[in-house]
Amino acid sequence: MSHVKVNNFKACCDQFERAAEKLGLEKNLATSLMMPDRELAVEVPLNRDDGSLAVFKGYRIQHNNARGPFKGGIRYHQEVDLDEVRALAALMTYKTAVVDIPYGGGKGGITVDPRELSERELEQLSRRFFRRISPIIGVNKDIPAPDVNTNAQIMAWFMDEYSQNQGYSPGIVTGKPIDLGGSLGREAATGRGVFLTIREAASEFDVDLSKATAVIQGFGNVGSFAALFLQELGCKVVAVSDVTGGLHDPSGLDIPALIDHVREHRVIEGCGQGKNVSNEELLTLECDFMVPAALGGVIHKMNADSLNCRFVIEAANGPTTPPGDEILFDKSIPVIPDILTNAGGVTVSYFEWVQNLQQFRWEEEEVNTKLEAKMVKAYSEVSALRREKKVSFRTAAFMVAIDRVARSVELRGF
Ligand code: NAD
Repeated sequence: MSHVKVNNFKACCDQFERAAEKLGLEKNLATSLMMPDRELAVEVPLNRDDGSLAVFKGYRIQHNNARGPFKGGIRYHQEVDLDEVRALAALMTYKTAVVDIPYGGGKGGITVDPRELSERELEQLSRRFFRRISPIIGVNKDIPAPDVNTNAQIMAWFMDEYSQNQGYSPGIVTGKPIDLGGSLGREAATGRGVFLTIREAASEFDVDLSKATAVIQGFGNVGSFAALFLQELGCKVVAVSDVTGGLHDPSGLDIPALIDHVREHRVIEGCGQGKNVSNEELLTLECDFMVPAALGGVIHKMNADSLNCRFVIEAANGPTTPPGDEILFDKSIPVIPDILTNAGGVTVSYFEWVQNLQQFRWEEEEVNTKLEAKMVKAYSEVSALRREKKVSFRTAAFMVAIDRVARSVELRGF
């Protein structure tokens, strides 16, 4: 079984409740903090290239905006449903709070397999969807971004839709092309944040990164940049995988060559490196850092016990199910949670939005330095609380975040 479809929102509520209880949060406030502020479901019609009509379901869920405008990506995937979007929206509220950027949380998506659409169909679907959700979107209200299967081009179409009525408004979305106000450093930001998280954990737990090994599941945007930065610091990336399967070489894969291969062929298959392994076997390989950077629900009660790593670094959103998490806790394998590990992406999205509002572009070095400061501070705050309260990284990260959101809600009043 490669991944399990979990009740995402229930899993997220369980994580939240564990932390809220430790914080002694008043029960009604806790209920209010977990419930989404607003849920919008829309019908998205599309004229197919063959003249037929297709209809898709789309969502935008605004979870909480106590600390700033709703913020979160738009996902195009055949498995998108209300439950998944609701959970991802809640995670965004707590992710933006962990790294202390002035945003709330939101998420959106369309239940569609975009591989089945032509470029024209993809554009029409994206524009239709944006128009349907536009009554609740705004530069200071709700700022979408890319997520799985959406990209800078789709953000450019969203920005164009909005700007046609409101005037040139690059701040309406982040993750845009650089030519339309995208930020330097945004493309690599999530992978860089994952790398910085590993670097901080290695330093805290006395792991020499130049002698360490990592396994990375998923070699897309997040996984490939994380692999590259790790290798630059001497860490051996001994296995990677994507949808076509995995590659394993105990002496370390050549990551720049692999990235070149994927740029040309889209997948790692056929690159001529390492020995083939399945995605399921890959999770059991011996390493210091196991980095799931593809799908949710890949570490679960059926396979958690066979993991052979010192740390799990959650680069993907929700890669560990709650039963999987408990097994890893019992095995004393620290799991550094998604809301901390992959927060580099939304942090640089925030920097992009600030640059758009200032109408001023920062140099890439400035973006990377500011990202590093945010990630290092967030890691240190979470880990200090973890040690003080003797809880898991995940519970500590939620505690830091919930405390910040709760204070803002109370200050603003109901
Ligand atoms: P991507 O589409 O660029 O890459 C996904 C990778 O996963 C690809 O290599 C793909 O082949 C692989 N994959 C797909 N199905 C797989 C399977 N069944 N088994 C193994 N590998 C499989 O996506 P991404 O932007 O790198 O996002 C990866 C994860 O990180 C997602 O969970 C996403 O929500 C999360 N995330 C991304 C960002 C970001 O800025 N891109 C930010 C925060 C979180």
